[in-house]
Amino acid sequence: MKYFSTRGQVKDISFEDAVMMGLAEDGGLLLPASLPQLSERDLKHFSELKYERLAYEVMRRFISGIPENDLMEVISKSYSPQNFDTPEIIPVVKAGDIKIAELFHGPTLAFKDMALQFLGNLFEYILKKRGRRMNIIGATSGDTGSAAIYGMRGKENVNVFILYPRGRVSHIQERQMASVEDSNVFCISAAGSFDDCQDTVKALFNDLEFKREYGLGAVNSINWARILAQIVYYFHIYFKAVKRVGDSVNIVVPTGNFGNIFAGYIARRMGLPIKLVLAANRNNILTRAVKFGDYSVEKVRPTHSPSMDIQVASNFERYLYYLYGGSCEKVAEAMENLKLEKEIEIRGQYLGQIQRDFIASDASDEDIEAMIRLIHDKSDYVIDPHTACAVSAAYKMEMASPDTVCLATAHPAKFPEVIEDALGFRPEEPEAIKRLEGMPERSYKMDADPDEVKSFIISSLKG
Ligand SMILES: *Cc1c(COP(=O)(O)O)cnc(C)c1O
Repeated sequence: MKYFSTRGQVKDISFEDAVMMGLAEDGGLLLPASLPQLSERDLKHFSELKYERLAYEVMRRFISGIPENDLMEVISKSYSPQNFDTPEIIPVVKAGDIKIAELFHGPTLAFKDMALQFLGNLFEYILKKRGRRMNIIGATSGDTGSAAIYGMRGKENVNVFILYPRGRVSHIQERQMASVEDSNVFCISAAGSFDDCQDTVKALFNDLEFKREYGLGAVNSINWARILAQIVYYFHIYFKAVKRVGDSVNIVVPTGNFGNIFAGYIARRMGLPIKLVLAANRNNILTRAVKFGDYSVEKVRPTHSPSMDIQVASNFERYLYYLYGGSCEKVAEAMENLKLEKEIEIRGQYLGQIQRDFIASDASDEDIEAMIRLIHDKSDYVIDPHTACAVSAAYKMEMASPDTVCLATAHPAKFPEVIEDALGFRPEEPEAIKRLEGMPERSYKMDADPDEVKSFIISSLKG
């Protein structure tokens, strides 16, 4: 399988090069040249596989150039039961009128572990093979950073620099990041919003000389390997939720950067019979895009679900490629418009198509608290504020039924303040959080400014 950029200037590159490039050199995002198609027989076969094996079967269809055994080993290291606090990896439970898929059993208690455990091992594998070093730079609204750090800590030939918006990530998220002692990990507490942090990271990647000299690599959801790892669990969750393989299941996805739901979109295009519901918070650029074709950037508003406090959803560009029928020119034009006018208008046939692809709904902070209470009242089960956005969408769209699975993207104990406001008590802390108590923390304060961050990276690597 070869990869190309959504903007059309990068073509015919290998899977490994796509992973190492992160953002394409023309500013676009990388996609596979074609999407593997699965028959009903494939699906039946997949439904009988354990997680690691399923991951192998899905991923190998997108990868050439890695020997079978090597790929299986990278996957096994990533999804070994030791990395998860349950042998089930992703339990699917009934709560209230719906089902919940718990994607938070990895080391940082958020779904991003599902992709970043894999990415860490994949980077290490590729770097070793090529005898190269890499400096990972990423922006985080909270969970990506800690998951990236836990994916990369202690890995050979890799350093990781993570920027997060100061005061806009939860205490626990910050503690998870800053308490990691490995010498290849650097946390940057930046003055600015998540979008400012992300713009800074993008600026560094667009500095091609710096990118080459320092071997910059990405871990945010623009990296294709992350999407790939996430495609796998749509299959896994579908098989756990469905009565008969072939029936349709609704999957509701708390959405920020559009990475998670885009993986679901690819799974559906491969032949998985799912309907996708896009759940947002008050930063509702994506629900406006689906409902009215209005993808226009507003100011980011802080909400109860900070990992979704995003306006420009970087992976939306990948979807635009398919929406525009595979026209890189149209994608490049739309992205240029987004840069100049701060908006993309989706009209006519395209508006019809996006509405066939997604159902969309957004939740206010009041909705989030109400859903946390509702699910607790019905089932004595505590959901986190991001998952609550999904549950809100399920109820608002009148899809609350056992055929609907809401993706639980974080453990509720990561957001104890919101849970306490909603329920009057704090959720019980799992071992992974208790352990952080009293550990020394280390992070570097600076502005979300490309030059300042660049100097910091250069001096850190000298030291
Ligand atoms: C990152 C994150 C999201 C948003 O996922 P995207 O792939 O960016 O859409 C939702 N919930 C939680 C808890 C997250 O960490």
